[in-house]
Amino acid sequence: MFMPDLAPYCYRTDGRELLQFQHHPHGYLTWAPPHPLVAVGWLDADVPQHADAVPEDVVEKLRLLVLTQRINGTCGLHFCGFCPPDVDEVAREDLGRVPSGSAEIRVASPCGSFAYAAPSLIGHYVEDHGYVPPAEFVDAVRALQPGDMDRFLRARIPDDAEYLDVDTMETVPFALCTLPPDASASW
Ligand SMILES: [Zn+2]
Repeated sequence: MFMPDLAPYCYRTDGRELLQFQHHPHGYLTWAPPHPLVAVGWLDADVPQHADAVPEDVVEKLRLLVLTQRINGTCGLHFCGFCPPDVDEVAREDLGRVPSGSAEIRVASPCGSFAYAAPSLIGHYVEDHGYVPPAEFVDAVRALQPGDMDRFLRARIPDDAEYLDVDTMETVPFALCTLPPDASASW
């Protein structure tokens, strides 16, 4: 799925988010986000190249985001289109640099009025293919502190959010479900 950087996010057409809790893999929180989503890192045939590399502290934060957030996760894997096919089997074992993805990450904008929506492959694109995201996204990642995205998302969960139990495929209003105390939505 190609979307130009900083274009409106349009991958999910039903307008809802599926948020998988890090320590609660059998259920999803689903709701329609009230904030706009802006696409970053939905690359197609070309990797945008820039003279400047992504600073190491931003690369490290992207690594953590990819490892700890799982939004709109699916059962299928999307393999990196820039890696040779035989790379996949080896690198798949290294979760920090996995060249396949099945979910997305969110990064709050500095003003807090919208969020960037990126595929989980974005970390790999940056580390292994020289992709440099837009400067405003790099700045937003750099500004993140642990727990920021958790607070950002939870503050925007509307009253009509639902909890989808993937074991039973039943939904209950989020307000009525009990999450484990260590449930963490994201980094
Ligand atoms: Zn790759």
